[in-house]
Amino acid sequence: MKNYKMWINNKPVDAVSGKTYGVINPATEEEIARVPLGDERDVDIAVAAAKEAFPTWAGKTQAERSDIMNLIADTIRKHAEELIELEMLDHGSPRSSADFMIIQAARQFEWAANESRTMVSDLMTLTAGNKALLQREPVGVNALITPWNVPLLMVATKLCASLAVGNTCVVKPATIDSLTTIKLAEILSKLNDIPHGVVNVVTGPGGTVGEALASHPDVGLVAFTGSCETGKRIMELASRTVKRMQMELGGKNPVIVFEDADIDTAVEKLVYAQFHNSGQVCVSPGRYYIHEKVHDEFVTKFVKKISSFTVGDPNDEKTRMGPIASAEHRNKVESYISKGIEEGAKLIMGGKRPTEPPLNKGYYVMPAVFTGVKQNMIVAREEIFGPVACIMEPFSSEEEVVNLANDNSFGLFVYVWTKDIARAIRVADKLCAGTVSINKDSGFSPYIPRGGFKESGIGKEGSKYGLEDFTQLKVIKIDITG
Ligand code: NAP
Repeated sequence: MKNYKMWINNKPVDAVSGKTYGVINPATEEEIARVPLGDERDVDIAVAAAKEAFPTWAGKTQAERSDIMNLIADTIRKHAEELIELEMLDHGSPRSSADFMIIQAARQFEWAANESRTMVSDLMTLTAGNKALLQREPVGVNALITPWNVPLLMVATKLCASLAVGNTCVVKPATIDSLTTIKLAEILSKLNDIPHGVVNVVTGPGGTVGEALASHPDVGLVAFTGSCETGKRIMELASRTVKRMQMELGGKNPVIVFEDADIDTAVEKLVYAQFHNSGQVCVSPGRYYIHEKVHDEFVTKFVKKISSFTVGDPNDEKTRMGPIASAEHRNKVESYISKGIEEGAKLIMGGKRPTEPPLNKGYYVMPAVFTGVKQNMIVAREEIFGPVACIMEPFSSEEEVVNLANDNSFGLFVYVWTKDIARAIRVADKLCAGTVSINKDSGFSPYIPRGGFKESGIGKEGSKYGLEDFTQLKVIKIDITG
């Protein structure tokens, strides 16, 4: 078992309290590491280091910072195998999934290197002789607070954008899945081009470390990915010092399958979208609206396809779905399954813990499918964030399904399946969501903006918009007549 450290000012450090907590491998239930249990005192030290580093880092040219972003990407690629192994141990990701996520983390830094080079200032002519220069500047110290569901990628996504435009950071990774973030800090500490204090990592509970960051007077921006409930709490704390905020929150993502859809393709893509990473993905389908003419065909094919989606040991090449990330989260998923049954939805598949070795150890739950889910049921309204597909009662008209899809406090992502492209665009126009995906899976590219409407968040990740969220716009007015 290994003892990990936090990283502050380019040095590995213990928590001021000297306390640690245990990290559990969700596939074996064994303690695999101990990590410092930070608190407000560690946050103060880390924020001070980031504050001190800010002028140096912000003072570098964009070309210098972009080169460093590319260097970080190369370094992640060089250490990919170590990071993949760690992500599998810590989070229970199957190898194929961990591979993809770690390479995506490197790609994020490559994107940030490119995108930040294209960020230009504008010059406006107000009246003859009067001009205004509009320029984007870094905000200062950023607090990056991230979830456990795709541990390193969630950190990389924010870190690259924040650093590329000249901010310095304190990262607070999720308590249960912090090992790859700590490893990344260690890897970055060896890159001489990054000044000390630019990247700091403080581990420990959201209720102390996260809240201290969200309230800290020297933090200028909080970028958060996580649940809606935590996002609201952070907004409350950050509002006291009017911090900039980027919020990537939850979803209850509708899938709409019209009667003319290519059902086989839809089933294939949706089974992956639903069950990969054990359904612990913000854009996982949350509720399926299937047209009455194709409902039964869809359900039959969906269930058949799931049977070939192998649940197993993350180390096994055949595994497509590993365990749930923690015992606590498995309990939460199981309690949703019980609520669905109590409310009268029909559990037609899975939802149980495997009983045969070796999967009787580890936080596994077999892929579950509900049918006959009604709009007002808890499983149709709340985010389950697990391997549970909720197939709603069939719909019959376009207008009806748009209303049903929009009837939720979230607005993150919608999947629409139809061969009628005019209908697809008409429906997409009416859907209240940050992204509508037509005849395709969720995909993932740093060049495309991601982010939710309504309670799914504020701001974007990826693209020039995501980068702009980590800057503030300064106006410099100039009179050139004199
Ligand atoms: P979470 O419980 O909200 O935790 C996210 C992070 O916030 C963790 O680092 C957590 O620390 C910290 N935290 C908890 N309480 C806090 C507080 N009072 N103040 C400050 N920080 C606090 O979310 P999660 O369960 O890790 O992640 C799942 C959620 O993330 C889902 O809702 C999912 O939809 C969402 N998500 C959204 C996106 C997107 O792009 N929209 C992407 C991925 C995930 P601890 O680990 O110590 O609790």
